[in-house]
Order: sequence, then structure tokens, then C-alpha cells
Amino acid sequence: MKVRRVLAVGAHPDDVELGCGGTLALYRRMGAEVVIASVSCGDKGSRELSREETVRVRKEESERAARIIGASYISLGLMDSEIFESLEDRAKVIELIRKVRPDVIITHSPSDYHADHRTTSVMVSHSSYIATSFKFETQSPPLSWVPPVYYMDNYLGVNFVPEEYVDITDVVDIKKDMVLQHKSQFPHLKERSGEDILEDMLILARLRGRQSGVEFAEGFQVFRAWPHVRTYRLLP
Ligand SMILES: [Zn+2]
Repeated sequence: MKVRRVLAVGAHPDDVELGCGGTLALYRRMGAEVVIASVSCGDKGSRELSREETVRVRKEESERAARIIGASYISLGLMDSEIFESLEDRAKVIELIRKVRPDVIITHSPSDYHADHRTTSVMVSHSSYIATSFKFETQSPPLSWVPPVYYMDNYLGVNFVPEEYVDITDVVDIKKDMVLQHKSQFPHLKERSGEDILEDMLILARLRGRQSGVEFAEGFQVFRAWPHVRTYRLLP
């Protein structure tokens, strides 16, 4: 089956680039339309800047990263570290899925480290099915299919055993470039928790590559719930 549209949903600006930027670059090469979304606007991602300023900066960074592969970027505007599956926010995720009409959805795994990542995983998985409901009304019409959902790798691969691998060797420099657009996060995360998102991304890509016999790879799990499962491969 030809994948025409892909929706990748992260909790924060930068999560999608780190988790599946290479795979999205490959989807674009195959001619698919790619939409990158973040559930929160990342308002708490800076010590020095005000929350409003942080939101503005991170939106620009996300748009730049998306532009590198010719994808578009949408923020659902929730607050960082305040993601809960409320009815109102579930409706926002459902509307996002209906608007994009994806053949494939990629999101966090439910076992990742951040509460927002785990809640986003659950919200997206739930909403991908409810998006077909005629009586759950949002602005866009319901989907006539249930899109398969793939979970991207956890940060540094902790508590995540991939079921499918994507060879990103050809596009690892593009992925690097996408991650580098999130300039505001490098000093912030280093100071806060010693994280170096670029180095950590490369360590994981190399590890997943070694596991799958290529230089760099991204790992994925499948959301195994009826009727999301397919008999054929949808990842590049
Ligand atoms: Zn995150």
C-alpha cells in the first residue's frame, strides 16, 4: 500500500525530530505528505525566557525543522507538563487526525520517560479509533478508516525493544539538521539534566543500526489493537 499522508505527534516541540525525523525524511522522499504536530507548545522549555517568548521561539524552531523535509508543523497549544486526557483535549487530537487524514500515525510509546510523552501516546492511540465515530463531532468529518499507529523509540532506548527498524543511514544528516534547529533546547537541557539531545540521538541511531545491520536506524513498535493492525509493512 502506498502511504500518502503521515502524521507524527510528539508531546513537545523537538520530540518528533528526535524520535522519527529520519523516517519522516524517507516518507517525504517517497512522496508522502508529512505533518509534524506537538501536543504542547513547549512553554516551560527555557529558564531565561518568559513562557510566551519560549512558545514563540520554539514554534519558529519547529517550523524550521519541518521545512527541512518539506513537512508542515502544527501545535495543539497545550501547556508543557500539563497534558491530561481531558475530553476537550481528546477532541483536539481527534480533530488533528481528521484534518490530516493520515495513512500512518507515529507517536510516543506508552513506556517513555516523560508524563507528557506517555499521556500523548495514550491520547493519540485512543483518538485514532474514535476519529471514525460519527457522533463524536469536531470540525472535520470522521475518518472512514482506522489509521495504524507506530510508537517511536524511547529516549536513549530505555525500556523499548523495537519490532521494526528503518534504515536512516542516507538521511541521518538531515535528521541531525532537524534536531539542530531546536537551538533553544541545547543549553536548557544541558543545564537542567545534562542531556545532549544531538549526541543522545546519534548514540541511539547507531545502536539501532548495529542491531539491524546498517549504520544508522530508527526503531518502532506497533500499537497492537484491533483494528489498527495490518498484514503489510507501512514504514519506509
Ligand atoms: Zn518531550
